[in-house]
Amino acid sequence: AGGAPAVLKVAAVTRRFFGVAALDGVGFAVPAGRITGLIGPNGAGKSTLLNVVSGLLRPDAGQVRFEGDDVTGMKPHRLAARGLTRTFQIARGFPKMSVFQHLMLYGPRQPGERLLQAPMWSRAARDREAELAERALAIAGRLRLSPLLDAPVTALSGGQKKLVEIGRTLMAEPRMILLDEPMAGVNPSLGAEIAAHLQALNAEGISLCLVEHDMALIRQLCHHVVVMAEGRTLVTGSFDEVVENAEVQEAYLGR
Ligand code: ADP
Ligand code: MG
Repeated sequence: AGGAPAVLKVAAVTRRFFGVAALDGVGFAVPAGRITGLIGPNGAGKSTLLNVVSGLLRPDAGQVRFEGDDVTGMKPHRLAARGLTRTFQIARGFPKMSVFQHLMLYGPRQPGERLLQAPMWSRAARDREAELAERALAIAGRLRLSPLLDAPVTALSGGQKKLVEIGRTLMAEPRMILLDEPMAGVNPSLGAEIAAHLQALNAEGISLCLVEHDMALIRQLCHHVVVMAEGRTLVTGSFDEVVENAEVQEAYLGR
């Protein structure tokens, strides 16, 4: 798109589940500093692809490069420390945890840090905790979550949870964020607010790659669109280019 260099490159990635290829040699480039939409029919492999890129799943074959470095199979916390992060659905199972604690829980670890190697009584650990707390407050402020910082996450609406997910990715001070359906199930006004936050983050230079079913949102937000079907890249281009494509229409409509 527009000759921007690639921030992320996925090459010939294959991932099978019980012998069936969910990803079957998928490859594409994500231009730096843009908002890229990843679309495709249900079962195309979009979520699996995000899981591979973000280090949750190892590919059976192929390569993922972030900012030119081979990061294939790298664990999520190491990728986050390098500047590539993703939204995760807020875990159930921590019902009493507040919004603030959620932001702090998922702050990046120092490279190689383990809990027992970073005793809380050390000066460095306390300084770091204070720095992360400050960051969490600033992020809550920009996402208009400040009044909810002490609320248990279970008390939040679906859209507010999505904002907390985005806030958590920002704790890593990322240069690229992957988002799996950041507006799904969110009421339209909060959806528009989330879209505006994404545009503001992008305007600060953060590259975004989002999976989203709402084509109006893809059209509004995305500079570049990658269409997947059956574990492969079908076509890439601007929104208008890809929706005109006959193969894309066939993949969606089965014509
Ligand atoms: P999308 O997000 O585009 O809807 P997915 O990546 O979720 O597609 O799924 C792609 C294919 O991989 C589907 O056929 C799905 O059933 C299969 N799949 C995804 N995750 C798993 C898993 N953990 N175990 C088995 N099959 C899976
Ligand atoms: Mg999915």
